[in-house]
This record gives sequence, structure tokens and C-alpha cells, in this order.
Amino acid sequence: MATRKRTTKRSAPLTEYRQKRDFTKTAEPRGGEGGAKTRKALRFVVQKHAASHLHFDFRLELDGVMKSWAVPKGPSYDPAVRRLAMQVEDHPIDYNTFEGTIPQGEYGGGTVMLWDRGTYEAEDGGGIEALRDGYERGDLKILLHGKRLQGGWVLVRMRRDENDRAQWLLIKHRDETADPDYDVVASATTSVVSGRSMEAIAARKGRVWTSNRSESAATRTPKKRTVAGKRRTAKKPRAKAVKRPAKRAKARSRG
Ligand code: MN
Repeated sequence: MATRKRTTKRSAPLTEYRQKRDFTKTAEPRGGEGGAKTRKALRFVVQKHAASHLHFDFRLELDGVMKSWAVPKGPSYDPAVRRLAMQVEDHPIDYNTFEGTIPQGEYGGGTVMLWDRGTYEAEDGGGIEALRDGYERGDLKILLHGKRLQGGWVLVRMRRDENDRAQWLLIKHRDETADPDYDVVASATTSVVSGRSMEAIAARKGRVWTSNRSESAATRTPKKRTVAGKRRTAKKPRAKAVKRPAKRAKARSRG
């Protein structure tokens, strides 16, 4: 716990994330300045993202950001299956509540679904140090406590591509949660938070930003909700939506 702030490599976290996005056009979060306070349970989230190519964004909280990988085929419960996981830029913690659409033409344009989320920990019980060490070494063994993803998994770093992006493999460990016959990607096709399908999210049905009600995985995600709360108060021109009540008082084209 001595090395709490090891951001020696880059000047500011999330720099690349912000450079790639125009926040006047996308509703994705810019990322809080405050960063995450130290909490005991680290979060993970998996977002299904219908960009130019469908993929699953696998994100693990570590040192104030979400370490992120794009997994084209999504996770598999079959320990014999190795899923390619291409590392992408660190994302802000705020991204964990993002569900909606990124405008076409913008970076990552397409529909984003919150496919799973929960907490995670080092599989060997070694805590944050074990996670940092595993991440640095490219052998990150984790225990997921999600609604759809549970048990032991490992991310193994293979090599870097021409863009200096690391390619990893996401593999299920052989434990009691492993199941070669269970196709979780095919089975779970709706949002873990809003229950919406990709089509419904794309059609902007329901709330664009997820709320904490209706989440069956509520037990796994402690309090927070500060994002949604902040938004609500910051908004407020909502009161003028008298004319088109059906139009969901468009939350500034969010979504
Ligand atoms: Mn993505």
C-alpha cells in the first residue's frame, strides 16, 4: 500500500481516453477529476459494444481507472477456450454506468450495453499488490463476483501489436464455476442493469443513463450512484418538457 500513486509512466491518467473523444458530441463520461477514493471492493464491468465490430469491453478497476480490454467474442466459461482480449486505453470509473449510444462518426460509435458488473479480487487473496503485480507481469489472475461472470479467470499477456497495443488472452480457470457447455454470451443478451436489448438501447427506449433501481445485481454494487445523482441536479431544464412528454424530455441527446 505504499505505492499508491504509481502513475509514473504517464503524466495524467485518462489522457489517451480524452484525446480520442469529443465530449461535446458523445455522452460518454469525461472522467471525474476527483478519481476514485480507496474502497475495499474493486469493480469490474463488461460492456457489449456494437461498434464497427461487435465486441465486449472488459474493464477492471485498478488504481483509479478502469483497465480495459476489447474481447471480440466475449468471455467463455469453457476453460479450454482462450479469448483474445486486446488492451485499449484506460477508461474512467464513471464509464461503469454508461449505457447508450455513441454517435456514429465519433470514436467507438455504436450502441453500448452494460452486460455485466460486480466486484473482483486477486484470486490468490493477495489483494491490490497481487493485482498490480499480475497486471505488470501480464499474468493477472482474478476472481469475479458478477451476475453473469463468476469464479476464477486469468488474463495473460501475449505480445504487442504494431500499435504497441498488448494482446492478452482471457481464459476461464478450471473451478466449480467453469462449464464448457454454457455459452454465456449467447444466453445473456440483455442489459444487466436496465434489462434492455441492444435494439432497445439503440432505439433509446427507457432511460439512457442507467439507474440503480431494477438492478438485480444491486447487492454487488455498493452505494456510489454519485454520477447519476450529480447529473440529475446539474440538469434541471427538464421542467420545460411540457410539450412532448412522450419524447422522454431528451436528456441532452444523451445516448
Ligand atoms: Mn468498445
